[in-house]
Amino acid sequence: MTTAEIIESFHSYKEETLKGRYITQKDIQPLITQWATKLDVEQLGVSENKLPIHLIKIGTGTKKLLFWSQMHGNESTTTKALFDLFHFLDDSANKLSEKILKECTLYIIPMLNPDGALAYTRVNYNGIDLNRDAQNLEESESKIFKAVVYNVKPLVAFNLHGQRTIFSAGNTTNSAIVSFLSPASNNERTITESRKKGMRIIAEMNKALQTAIPNCVGRYDDGFNINCTGDTMEYNGYTTILFEAGHHPNDYEREVTRKWMYLSLITALKFIAETGLSIENYEAYFDIPENGKLFKDIIIRNYPINGEKFDVALQYQETLVDKNLRFIPIVAQIETQIIENGHIEFNCDLDKVEISNVIEKQEIETKIDYLSINDEKFSVFPIKK
Ligand SMILES: [Zn+2]
Repeated sequence: MTTAEIIESFHSYKEETLKGRYITQKDIQPLITQWATKLDVEQLGVSENKLPIHLIKIGTGTKKLLFWSQMHGNESTTTKALFDLFHFLDDSANKLSEKILKECTLYIIPMLNPDGALAYTRVNYNGIDLNRDAQNLEESESKIFKAVVYNVKPLVAFNLHGQRTIFSAGNTTNSAIVSFLSPASNNERTITESRKKGMRIIAEMNKALQTAIPNCVGRYDDGFNINCTGDTMEYNGYTTILFEAGHHPNDYEREVTRKWMYLSLITALKFIAETGLSIENYEAYFDIPENGKLFKDIIIRNYPINGEKFDVALQYQETLVDKNLRFIPIVAQIETQIIENGHIEFNCDLDKVEISNVIEKQEIETKIDYLSINDEKFSVFPIKK
């Protein structure tokens, strides 16, 4: 299967019942029940507020691979992509799926932090960031995770996350639609044999992604923090890859990025199944630019305030309102000139713009009620352009 064919296959394998950003345990439970008739499903335990955490096992190969998603509750894009992947792997007519399942056994925790998912928070029920609890292991979710690592002893570990809209692929005007990291295993950030394997797989995924979203892939800084799960995994000798699903233009629901995660996962599996863990040309990892923070959701240029012109940046705050996710625009910055790029920009020299409650520079960090562009009033966000 070529990269183009994998991309093409997305629509036939997509799990249609999952969509949008707010994905909870209740959303995935019916799917877990369905897949339990075909796949090996185990309840590992419960979260701090007693929601179930599951492990799904698929494949019969000797290469053991571990995946976990929604360790941060509000990072759901990779969870959607995992359920898409199940349909891909389940197709017995698909030669690549057959090869992957023969070579590999996949151990998948689709939602490690179901309490955070329900509350749409990064942290768990006790307000703890599970990705900083790798040493303390105080939380139920961390203990459950550690036991799985101990039992599986994965050849490669896939640490699946989502990132905010602020990131650019390098210091460019391209959004970092997908980002990766091969985490360090010590303060010196030594390029160990284990990391070379991870870097090689990331380089392979980057090559595939470049055909679809050129110059929109970034990599994270590899500063070492032993409290982070990926760093602890590498410290313990497990090749680990951090995935970050990011912002594709106009795709606040992350339904397009979901496809790029699907492509990345299958590309990595194809590489591992077909070529093992070759490290040849792992240096291509360093061709991926390091992420910058060069984006705001909306920038309005040359906005008149008290007879002067200012650039105004708005940033969406993702908030649950009556169990629905809302994007609330907040005034993030008012400056003479804002150097970042807006995913959407307006220029008051060309367009007639009114921001509901920006009258003075003191309006920073306040929520806005509406935005009026050439007399068209927008009070439902995100807006598209
Ligand atoms: Zn995360």
